[in-house]
Amino acid sequence: MAKETLSIIVSCYNEEKSLPLFYKEICKVFDSLKVNLELILVDDGSHDNTIKIMKELQKEDERVKYISFSRNFGKEAAMYAGLEKATGEYVGLMDADLQDPPSLLPKMLDLLNDDSFDYDCVATRRVTREREPPIRSFFARIFYKVINKMSDVELVDGARDYRLMTRKMVDAILQLKEYNRFSKGLFGFVGFKTKWLEYKNIERVAGETKWSFWKLFKYAIEGIVAFTTAPLTIAALLGMIFCLIAFIMIIVIIMKTIIFGDPTSGWPSMICVIFLVSGVQLFCLGIIGEYLSKTYLETKKRPIYIIKETSKNIKN
Ligand code: UDP
Ligand code: MG
Repeated sequence: MAKETLSIIVSCYNEEKSLPLFYKEICKVFDSLKVNLELILVDDGSHDNTIKIMKELQKEDERVKYISFSRNFGKEAAMYAGLEKATGEYVGLMDADLQDPPSLLPKMLDLLNDDSFDYDCVATRRVTREREPPIRSFFARIFYKVINKMSDVELVDGARDYRLMTRKMVDAILQLKEYNRFSKGLFGFVGFKTKWLEYKNIERVAGETKWSFWKLFKYAIEGIVAFTTAPLTIAALLGMIFCLIAFIMIIVIIMKTIIFGDPTSGWPSMICVIFLVSGVQLFCLGIIGEYLSKTYLETKKRPIYIIKETSKNIKN
C-alpha cells in the first residue's frame, strides 16, 4: 500500500526568525512518522525575508511548497489558501512560531488513524494563558462566554488553530467560501467528531505576536457577527422595552396633569431620558450596520486572497 500524505499548512507573516527554527523542529518529528510530508508555507505578504527563506528551504527540500500573497490578507486567508492547495489525506494547520508543539503530531496522527474512535479531527486547546496580559485573558474569557450563549455553533475557550483533519473535513471547510472567515467557528459549523488535546501555553520562539488588542477586538466582533444574529434580536427587544416604558410614562404624566395640574418641572430628567434613548438607538443602529457591512462585503464576492507567486510543485 502506498504511504499516505500529511499536508502541514503554516501561515507566516514576518516570520524570518521563527521559520528556520520551525522547519528544524518539524523535520525532527517527521523522520519518525510513517507518512509522506507536504509542507505548505504560506507567506501572508511579509515585509521581511520570510519569502527568501521559504525559497531556500524549497530548494533544499522537495517536500516544501510555498505560496506568496500579494499583500497581507490575514491568517484566515492564509489558512484557506493552504487548505485549497493541500493534497494530503490528512491536513494540519500550524503556526510558525512553535507555539504549536510539533511533538504532538505523532499522537494526533495516531488518534486520527485509530478506527475504534472514528475521529475526523484532532484539535488542541491551551488550558493556561500564562504570561498573557491579564486584560487580554479577561476579555477572551468574556468573549467565549458571550458567543457560546448566543450562537448555536460551539466555540471552545482556548482552542488554537493547531489541528489535524481528515480529507473529508477539509473538503467540508472548503465548501464554506465566505469572505469574512472566522475559522474557529467554521470548524465548529462543519461538525465531525473532534478530539481535543490540552496543553500548557508556550511562548513564541522568536519575533513578536501580530495581534494587537484592537485587532483581537475586531476579530471578536467578526466572530459574533459571523455566527449569530442574536444581537439583532437583542436590539429589537431593547426597542420594545423602551416603547413599553415610554407608554407607561405617558399614562403616568397624563394622570398627574389631570390630578395635580401642570407645573413646568422635570426638565433635567427629560434631558437624561433623551440622552439614554438616543444612545440606545445609536447602539442598535451600529449593530445593524455591522451586519449590513458584512453582507455588503460578501456580496462583492472579492477573492479571499491574491497570489503573487508559488513554488512550481504546488497544485493549481
Ligand atoms: N499570521 C499570518 N497573518 C497575519 C498575522 C499572523 O499569517 O496577518 C501568522 C503568524 O505568522 C503566525 C500565526 O499566524 O504563524 C499566529 O500569529 P501570532 O503568533 O502572531 O499570534 P498569537 O500566537 O500571538 O495568537
Ligand atoms: Mg503565536
